[in-house]
Amino acid sequence: MTKLTYDTWVEPTNEFIVDSQYKGALKVLNWAYEMYDEQLIYSCSFGIEGIVLIDLISKIKPTAKIVFLDTGLHFPETYELIEAVKRKYPALRIEMKKPALSVQEQADQYGEELWKRQPDRCCYMRKVIPLRDILSNSTAWISGLRREQSPTRKNTNFINKDETFQSVKICPLIHWSWKDIWNYVKENQLQYNPLHDQGYPSIGCWPCTVQGDMETGSRSGRWVNQGKTECGLHLNNNPSK
Ligand code: SF4
Repeated sequence: MTKLTYDTWVEPTNEFIVDSQYKGALKVLNWAYEMYDEQLIYSCSFGIEGIVLIDLISKIKPTAKIVFLDTGLHFPETYELIEAVKRKYPALRIEMKKPALSVQEQADQYGEELWKRQPDRCCYMRKVIPLRDILSNSTAWISGLRREQSPTRKNTNFINKDETFQSVKICPLIHWSWKDIWNYVKENQLQYNPLHDQGYPSIGCWPCTVQGDMETGSRSGRWVNQGKTECGLHLNNNPSK
Protein backbone atom coordinates (compact mmCIF):
# COMPACT_ATOMS: atom_id res chain seq x y z
CA MET A 1 0.00 0.00 0.00
CA THR A 2 1.54 3.33 -1.07
CA LYS A 3 1.65 5.68 1.88
CA LEU A 4 -0.58 8.71 1.57
CA THR A 5 1.20 11.74 3.01
CA TYR A 6 0.89 15.51 2.81
CA ASP A 7 3.72 15.63 0.27
CA THR A 8 2.38 12.79 -1.88
CA TRP A 9 -1.24 13.81 -1.54
CA VAL A 10 -3.80 12.58 -4.05
CA GLU A 11 -7.50 12.71 -3.33
CA PRO A 12 -8.32 9.37 -1.64
CA THR A 13 -10.64 7.08 -3.54
CA ASN A 14 -11.35 4.80 -0.59
CA GLU A 15 -14.98 4.01 -0.07
CA PHE A 16 -15.65 3.36 3.59
CA ILE A 17 -19.09 1.88 4.03
CA VAL A 18 -21.04 3.96 6.52
CA ASP A 19 -22.55 1.10 8.51
CA SER A 20 -25.37 1.66 10.96
CA GLN A 21 -23.36 0.71 14.06
CA TYR A 22 -20.12 2.65 13.67
CA LYS A 23 -20.91 4.96 10.73
CA GLY A 24 -17.66 3.93 9.06
CA ALA A 25 -15.47 4.86 12.03
CA LEU A 26 -13.96 1.44 12.70
CA LYS A 27 -13.19 0.88 9.02
CA VAL A 28 -11.47 4.24 8.78
CA LEU A 29 -9.45 3.57 11.93
CA ASN A 30 -8.44 0.14 10.65
CA TRP A 31 -7.28 1.69 7.39
CA ALA A 32 -5.43 4.48 9.18
CA TYR A 33 -3.50 2.26 11.60
CA GLU A 34 -2.64 -0.13 8.78
CA MET A 35 -1.42 2.81 6.70
CA TYR A 36 0.46 4.80 9.36
CA ASP A 37 0.82 2.68 12.53
CA GLU A 38 3.43 4.45 14.68
CA GLN A 39 3.27 7.49 12.42
CA LEU A 40 -0.31 8.14 13.52
CA ILE A 41 -1.27 10.11 16.62
CA TYR A 42 -4.64 10.99 18.07
CA SER A 43 -5.00 14.54 19.39
CA CYS A 44 -7.68 14.12 22.05
CA SER A 45 -9.44 16.83 24.02
CA PHE A 46 -11.18 14.25 26.23
CA GLY A 47 -14.60 15.65 25.39
CA ILE A 48 -17.41 13.21 24.76
CA GLU A 49 -16.31 12.47 21.18
CA GLY A 50 -12.84 11.79 22.52
CA ILE A 51 -14.20 9.22 24.93
CA VAL A 52 -15.89 7.40 22.05
CA LEU A 53 -12.83 7.56 19.83
CA ILE A 54 -10.51 6.26 22.53
CA ASP A 55 -12.78 3.27 23.02
CA LEU A 56 -12.89 2.59 19.27
CA ILE A 57 -9.15 3.07 18.85
CA SER A 58 -8.43 0.71 21.74
CA LYS A 59 -10.18 -2.08 19.79
CA ILE A 60 -7.72 -1.66 16.93
CA LYS A 61 -4.50 -0.33 18.45
CA PRO A 62 -4.43 -0.80 22.24
CA THR A 63 -1.04 0.92 22.42
CA ALA A 64 -2.06 3.92 20.31
CA LYS A 65 -0.29 7.23 20.76
CA ILE A 66 -2.55 9.96 22.11
CA VAL A 67 -1.69 13.56 22.84
CA PHE A 68 -3.58 15.97 25.07
CA LEU A 69 -2.78 19.64 24.55
CA ASP A 70 -2.34 20.58 28.17
CA THR A 71 -2.75 24.35 28.10
CA GLY A 72 -2.65 24.46 31.89
CA LEU A 73 -6.11 26.01 31.74
CA HIS A 74 -8.35 22.98 31.66
CA PHE A 75 -11.08 22.21 34.18
CA PRO A 76 -10.09 19.96 37.10
CA GLU A 77 -12.76 17.52 35.90
CA THR A 78 -10.88 17.11 32.61
CA TYR A 79 -7.62 16.21 34.33
CA GLU A 80 -9.47 13.75 36.57
CA LEU A 81 -11.07 12.14 33.53
CA ILE A 82 -7.68 11.68 31.87
CA GLU A 83 -6.45 9.81 34.91
CA ALA A 84 -9.53 7.59 34.79
CA VAL A 85 -8.94 6.87 31.09
CA LYS A 86 -5.33 5.94 31.82
CA ARG A 87 -6.56 3.43 34.40
CA LYS A 88 -9.15 1.94 32.02
CA TYR A 89 -6.79 1.67 29.03
CA PRO A 90 -3.34 1.21 30.60
CA ALA A 91 -1.62 0.31 27.31
CA LEU A 92 -2.47 3.60 25.61
CA ARG A 93 0.45 6.02 25.42
CA ILE A 94 -1.03 9.35 26.52
CA GLU A 95 1.26 12.36 26.34
CA MET A 96 0.40 15.61 28.12
CA LYS A 97 1.88 18.21 25.78
CA LYS A 98 2.50 21.58 27.39
CA PRO A 99 3.16 24.90 25.65
CA ALA A 100 6.53 26.62 25.89
CA LEU A 101 5.26 29.17 28.40
CA SER A 102 3.47 28.39 31.64
CA VAL A 103 0.30 30.37 32.31
CA GLN A 104 2.24 32.68 34.59
CA GLU A 105 5.08 33.16 32.09
CA GLN A 106 2.54 34.02 29.41
CA ALA A 107 0.94 36.57 31.76
CA ASP A 108 4.36 38.07 32.49
CA GLN A 109 5.19 38.45 28.80
CA TYR A 110 1.80 39.25 27.27
CA GLY A 111 -0.25 40.51 30.19
CA GLU A 112 -2.89 38.87 32.34
CA GLU A 113 -5.75 36.97 30.71
CA LEU A 114 -4.52 37.12 27.15
CA TRP A 115 -7.49 34.93 26.20
CA LYS A 116 -9.81 37.88 26.81
CA ARG A 117 -7.89 40.27 24.58
CA GLN A 118 -6.26 38.05 21.97
CA PRO A 119 -7.76 34.57 22.11
CA ASP A 120 -6.31 33.64 18.70
CA ARG A 121 -2.83 34.43 19.91
CA CYS A 122 -3.39 32.53 23.14
CA CYS A 123 -4.68 29.46 21.26
CA TYR A 124 -1.83 29.70 18.81
CA MET A 125 0.78 29.59 21.55
CA ARG A 126 -0.94 27.08 23.81
CA LYS A 127 -2.45 24.71 21.25
CA VAL A 128 -1.34 25.18 17.65
CA ILE A 129 2.42 25.38 18.20
CA PRO A 130 2.46 22.41 20.63
CA LEU A 131 0.50 20.24 18.20
CA ARG A 132 2.74 21.32 15.35
CA ASP A 133 5.69 20.24 17.44
CA ILE A 134 4.11 16.83 18.05
CA LEU A 135 3.11 16.31 14.43
CA SER A 136 6.57 17.14 13.15
CA ASN A 137 7.35 13.52 14.08
CA SER A 138 4.16 12.01 12.64
CA THR A 139 2.66 11.61 9.18
CA ALA A 140 -1.00 11.69 10.14
CA TRP A 141 -3.27 12.49 13.03
CA ILE A 142 -6.75 11.64 14.19
CA SER A 143 -9.38 14.14 15.23
CA GLY A 144 -12.90 13.69 16.60
CA LEU A 145 -14.57 16.29 14.37
CA ARG A 146 -18.21 15.69 13.49
CA ARG A 147 -19.86 17.40 10.53
CA GLU A 148 -22.90 18.56 12.46
CA GLN A 149 -20.86 20.35 15.14
CA SER A 150 -20.53 23.63 13.27
CA PRO A 151 -20.65 25.14 9.77
CA THR A 152 -16.84 25.17 9.75
CA ARG A 153 -16.84 21.38 10.08
CA LYS A 154 -19.62 20.39 7.69
CA ASN A 155 -17.29 19.61 4.77
CA THR A 156 -14.86 17.47 6.75
CA ASN A 157 -14.02 14.11 5.14
CA PHE A 158 -12.75 10.86 6.60
CA ILE A 159 -9.31 11.61 5.16
CA ASN A 160 -8.23 15.25 4.80
CA LYS A 161 -5.23 17.11 3.52
CA ASP A 162 -4.29 19.28 6.47
CA GLU A 163 -2.66 22.55 5.45
CA THR A 164 -2.31 23.84 9.01
CA PHE A 165 0.07 21.10 10.04
CA GLN A 166 1.08 19.86 6.60
CA SER A 167 -0.18 16.47 7.58
CA VAL A 168 -3.01 14.03 6.87
CA LYS A 169 -5.98 14.39 9.20
CA ILE A 170 -8.21 11.38 9.81
CA CYS A 171 -11.73 12.10 11.09
CA PRO A 172 -13.58 8.83 11.79
CA LEU A 173 -16.66 10.41 13.44
CA ILE A 174 -17.83 12.74 10.69
CA HIS A 175 -21.16 10.95 10.29
CA TRP A 176 -21.92 10.56 13.99
CA SER A 177 -24.75 12.64 15.41
CA TRP A 178 -24.80 13.94 18.97
CA LYS A 179 -27.34 11.20 19.73
CA ASP A 180 -25.08 8.53 18.22
CA ILE A 181 -22.25 9.67 20.47
CA TRP A 182 -24.31 9.49 23.62
CA ASN A 183 -25.91 6.16 22.67
CA TYR A 184 -22.44 4.67 22.30
CA VAL A 185 -21.28 6.12 25.61
CA LYS A 186 -24.31 4.76 27.46
CA GLU A 187 -24.31 1.35 25.77
CA ASN A 188 -20.65 0.87 26.59
CA GLN A 189 -20.89 2.46 30.03
CA LEU A 190 -17.98 4.79 29.34
CA GLN A 191 -16.89 7.31 31.95
CA TYR A 192 -17.08 10.91 30.74
CA ASN A 193 -16.51 14.45 31.92
CA PRO A 194 -19.23 15.28 34.51
CA LEU A 195 -19.39 18.83 33.11
CA HIS A 196 -21.46 17.45 30.23
CA ASP A 197 -24.21 16.70 32.75
CA GLN A 198 -24.00 20.33 33.92
CA GLY A 199 -24.81 21.68 30.45
CA TYR A 200 -21.43 21.87 28.74
CA PRO A 201 -21.60 20.16 25.33
CA SER A 202 -18.07 21.15 24.30
CA ILE A 203 -15.35 21.43 26.93
CA GLY A 204 -12.10 23.30 26.42
CA CYS A 205 -10.09 25.68 28.61
CA TRP A 206 -12.12 27.03 31.51
CA PRO A 207 -11.69 30.75 30.62
CA CYS A 208 -13.25 30.18 27.18
CA THR A 209 -15.97 27.63 27.92
CA VAL A 210 -19.51 28.16 29.19
CA GLN A 211 -22.66 26.08 29.07
CA GLY A 212 -24.17 25.63 25.61
CA ASP A 213 -26.68 23.80 23.49
CA MET A 214 -26.93 20.29 24.87
CA GLU A 215 -29.61 19.36 22.31
CA THR A 216 -27.18 19.33 19.41
CA GLY A 217 -23.77 19.21 21.04
CA SER A 218 -22.78 22.36 19.21
CA ARG A 219 -19.82 24.55 20.12
CA SER A 220 -22.10 27.38 21.19
CA GLY A 221 -20.44 27.59 24.60
CA ARG A 222 -16.94 28.21 23.30
CA TRP A 223 -15.41 31.72 23.04
CA VAL A 224 -18.81 33.36 23.53
CA ASN A 225 -18.94 36.93 22.16
CA GLN A 226 -15.35 36.69 20.91
CA GLY A 227 -16.13 36.09 17.24
CA LYS A 228 -14.32 32.77 17.34
CA THR A 229 -15.49 29.19 17.10
CA GLU A 230 -12.25 27.29 16.48
CA CYS A 231 -8.99 27.23 18.38
CA GLY A 232 -7.01 27.11 15.13
CA LEU A 233 -6.29 23.40 14.90
CA HIS A 234 -8.98 22.88 12.27
CA LEU A 235 -8.97 26.04 10.19
CA ASN A 236 -6.93 24.30 7.50
CA ASN A 237 -4.67 27.24 6.78
CA ASN A 238 -1.18 28.18 7.72
CA PRO A 239 -1.78 30.40 10.74
CA SER A 240 0.47 33.35 11.41
CA LYS A 241 0.93 35.00 14.73
FE1 SF4 B 1 -6.20 30.39 25.55
FE2 SF4 B 1 -8.87 30.15 25.61
FE3 SF4 B 1 -7.44 29.16 23.58
FE4 SF4 B 1 -7.32 28.02 25.97
S1 SF4 B 1 -9.12 28.14 24.61
S2 SF4 B 1 -5.61 28.39 24.66
S3 SF4 B 1 -7.44 29.84 27.32
S4 SF4 B 1 -7.72 31.34 24.13
